[in-house]
Amino acid sequence: MKSWISRPVPDLPGQMPAIRLFDTVQGREVELQGDGDQSLYVCGITPYDATHMGHAASYVAFDLLNRAWRDAGQRVAYVQNVTDVDDPLLERATATGVDWQDLAASQIELFQTDMVALNVLAPDHYVGAVESVPLIVPAIERLLSKGLAYRVPGGAGEPDGDVYYDVEAAGKQSSAADAWTLGDISGLVETEMLELFAERGGDPGRAGKRQALDPLLWRVARKGEPSWPGGELGDGRPGWHIECTVIAQEYLPAPFTVQGGGSDLIFPHHEMGAGHAYSLAGVPLAHHYAHAGMVGLDGEKMSKSKGNLVLVSRLRATGEEPAAIRLAILAHHYRSDWSWTDAGFAEAKGRLSAWRSALEAAPEGSALGLIAEMRAALATDLDAPAAVEAVDRWAAGAASAAAAGSQRDRALVSDAVEALLGVVL
Ligand code: ZN
Repeated sequence: MKSWISRPVPDLPGQMPAIRLFDTVQGREVELQGDGDQSLYVCGITPYDATHMGHAASYVAFDLLNRAWRDAGQRVAYVQNVTDVDDPLLERATATGVDWQDLAASQIELFQTDMVALNVLAPDHYVGAVESVPLIVPAIERLLSKGLAYRVPGGAGEPDGDVYYDVEAAGKQSSAADAWTLGDISGLVETEMLELFAERGGDPGRAGKRQALDPLLWRVARKGEPSWPGGELGDGRPGWHIECTVIAQEYLPAPFTVQGGGSDLIFPHHEMGAGHAYSLAGVPLAHHYAHAGMVGLDGEKMSKSKGNLVLVSRLRATGEEPAAIRLAILAHHYRSDWSWTDAGFAEAKGRLSAWRSALEAAPEGSALGLIAEMRAALATDLDAPAAVEAVDRWAAGAASAAAAGSQRDRALVSDAVEALLGVVL
């Protein structure tokens, strides 16, 4: 599938120091090894609704990492999927009387337009589930032949043959230190897992499964649902976790550097993906797992059912500037859970305008110190709020400077704010 077109990233003098990132599995900040090549997989959207602020914040968070790596002189291979067939998409299409393919195409288009507006660097590969079916089928066949997956018999209105991953068998496949067992990624105990599994698309009560937490790998064709040829599996469509695993294994090294997503993807999505990957390749999927916090609205959880989604496209349609939206996001550390508020957005708009005015008065020799401060902040677990504060201090100093502004410093600060924070002044 086509990715979007990124705005070029300005080059800055000097270099970002070694980057430290909070690793969810280890529960602490780790220094990312910088051998020149980095690889990033960020889980993409299911295209049935427009990009809300939670999605936007998550993609902006990992865009900071992408930009930090580039500034540190690293080459970055970046892959993102789009789950262009799945239950929520089909349900929404049926409910609204729209063809599911038209719905997916229109929402992918809207998402990409939002990403361009927010100046999020495009992935090198933007890959759909549908186009990946020919890669996913042999992977599931392999899991079956290894005894790590099984077919569930039909009954109660369900056809024969849905394929599930056997989490218990998979957890016993190897005694190697880096082998996966259930809970390795999320650190959750079984009761916590069961609760989240049911909440987040799992089917703990499906009859015929060996273990309630076994996730779906292949859903055989049902009347009225789209399906694709599945070889030995029969016609059907893939589960969500195996989709990301296979796409990541196809386009990135094994293991790749960082898998990213919102914190609601830790379990079951990233947990199961890590399991699938180890079962298929005998090495971990990723070296590190990183997660962005959740975004609410005025202190409440943002959700479709509550009807309180803040949509990037809707803000844009009312004439709001995307750079201000991005700056409102960057005022919060990516790992924190926070709320979108009118007051926060007004503050971001004021800040953007203050930064722009300060550029005119950029004091001679002030830019390099600011760049060093921004780099130090971002190298410390992508601390955007600290980088934003550094620019605030610089802008306050510039505003009170008596001398005429320096053209060189003006250009450097403008480039740094764009290259490191992705905000175009
Ligand atoms: Zn994913």
